[in-house]
Formats: sequence, structure tokens, C-alpha cells
Amino acid sequence: MFHQLSLIFGSMTKAQEILLLLNDKKAVVRHGFYEEELPAVERFCDKNNLIMVKSKFKVLLADETSYSNKGIRIMAEDKRPGMYFVYISKDEEKAWKASYFELMGSDRDLGKILGYPNCCVDFFCKRFTPDNPNLQLTPSNPWTNLSKRGQDAVLISHFPCSSDCEESIKLAKVCLDSVLKADYQRAEDLLRILKP
Ligand SMILES: [Zn+2]
Repeated sequence: MFHQLSLIFGSMTKAQEILLLLNDKKAVVRHGFYEEELPAVERFCDKNNLIMVKSKFKVLLADETSYSNKGIRIMAEDKRPGMYFVYISKDEEKAWKASYFELMGSDRDLGKILGYPNCCVDFFCKRFTPDNPNLQLTPSNPWTNLSKRGQDAVLISHFPCSSDCEESIKLAKVCLDSVLKADYQRAEDLLRILKP
């Protein structure tokens, strides 16, 4: 099941977020997808009664893993290979709201609806600038370690306000727990890779 999810969504990190959504541990998931990845995602959402809202614009991301929502927005017709942002939820209103907040550049509302801790949303709103799009901190534990996300290993989907942020660590533990139930080996691998 977990392996199959990762094939549909293109990475294990994305698959684990979908798992959280299916397990009601997360209300909305936001991911970037290239055009050719969308049909499989759409089929999965249809089959599982998930609402999927797709951005009208594409983004040339400053940060491939879509932690930041900043990047150059381009029109869908633009030939450059931008990513569409997709908001997936069991709740139609929440999927549309997330899409709207992103369109309007309301980072604070977007962060909240995506379930990020208030302290980390504040941190992002204060610190993030186009010149400083990567708020990654030096890892001190596996839970908030973002340094391996390029290798598809990470347990949270936001920039933590500190490596020891308790709210972030709580979210990471919920995430690991849901991976553990779906794929024990993957959970073990994650902890090993993320150990600083
Ligand atoms: Zn925090």
C-alpha cells in the first residue's frame, strides 16, 4: 500500500502525507506536480473520495520540495516545465480555501489550514524573503531534520521555528507512527537516514 502510494504520488515523502490525510491526521495536503504526474493523482483522488483542487498557474520553484510557496509564477500555457500546486482534502471547502490562500499570498492562513504549528507559521512569515527562501536549520534530532529531504526522507512538511520545536516534533511523531503502521521497514529507514 505504501509503496503503491509512492508510485502514484512520485515520492515516499508525498506518499506519507497522503497517508496522513487518509488517516485523518491531516486536513489538507499541498504538493507540486508536473503535468504528466497529474492523471494518476487525479485517478487516485477520484477513487478515494478526495477532493483535489489544482492551481491555475504553474510555478518554477525556488525550492524543488515545495516547502516554500515562492517561485516564479507562470501561466499554464507557458512551455517551461513548471509545477502545478495541488491541494487535496476530504473536505472540499478546505481544499478550495488552501488554493485561495496561496493564490492571494496569504502565507499565514495557508500555513494554518495546512496544520503547521503557529510558532512555525510566525517564524516563516517573519523570516522568509525571496532572497532567503531556505529556512533550513542545523538538525539536532531526526524529527525536524529537513536536511535529507532531497533524498526523500523527512517527517514534517514545513520549516520548523527551531530544531527543538515541540509542536513540530509532535507532528513528526504522528507522521512516523502512520508510516510505521503502513511499512515498518520504511519507518526504520527514515529514522536511520534522519539521525543527525
Ligand atoms: Zn514551531
